[in-house]
Amino acid sequence: MRILIPQEDLERRIAELAAEIDRDYAASDRLVCIGVLKGSVFFMVDLLKRLKVPLAIDFFQTSSYGSSTSPGEVRIRKDLDLSIRGKDVLLIEDIVDTGYTLRTILDLLRFRGARSVRLCALLDKAAAREVEVKIDYRGFEIEKLFVVGYGLDFDEHYRNLPYIAVLDEDAPDVPSPS
Ligand code: 5GP
Repeated sequence: MRILIPQEDLERRIAELAAEIDRDYAASDRLVCIGVLKGSVFFMVDLLKRLKVPLAIDFFQTSSYGSSTSPGEVRIRKDLDLSIRGKDVLLIEDIVDTGYTLRTILDLLRFRGARSVRLCALLDKAAAREVEVKIDYRGFEIEKLFVVGYGLDFDEHYRNLPYIAVLDEDAPDVPSPS
């Protein structure tokens, strides 16, 4: 396990993102922040605690169909509770990898009549992108590595790490996920 982004760096960058978002939505009284479960939860909570603009929150949960056959097909496992028609939507995601999941969700949010839709992603694996996705607020660009921690899991483990780490399966000191 190698720490890629320490806790202090996450905190500092999230404070910067929150200040930017606060400025951009200062005139909005209809902001809905939508998290993608489960990975974005830690980031979303830390980010939203720093915002001063009035907002509502809601969650999506998705899963991909067999990625080897049709990576673009994304299944919604939990849909939104709130209507987003006429609202300013800020989608909050942990990591953008190929971009398929995000593109599907962003298209759906627009289709449902949101007044505006923007994306805030903590991590951007830009080199892995297969479909174009505009990231309006981006925490960090990282290399094409499999990362865990701060909400991100490996088989449901490591989500509670307070930093982002790279899981090196060859390293002798990797803690067992069980
Ligand atoms: P995309 O549709 O952009 O390929 O995939 C996005 C989703 O894949 C993320 O929300 C996350 O659940 C998962 N994912 C992509 N890269 C990583 C990674 O490095 N670590 C973990 N834990 N999940 C990842």
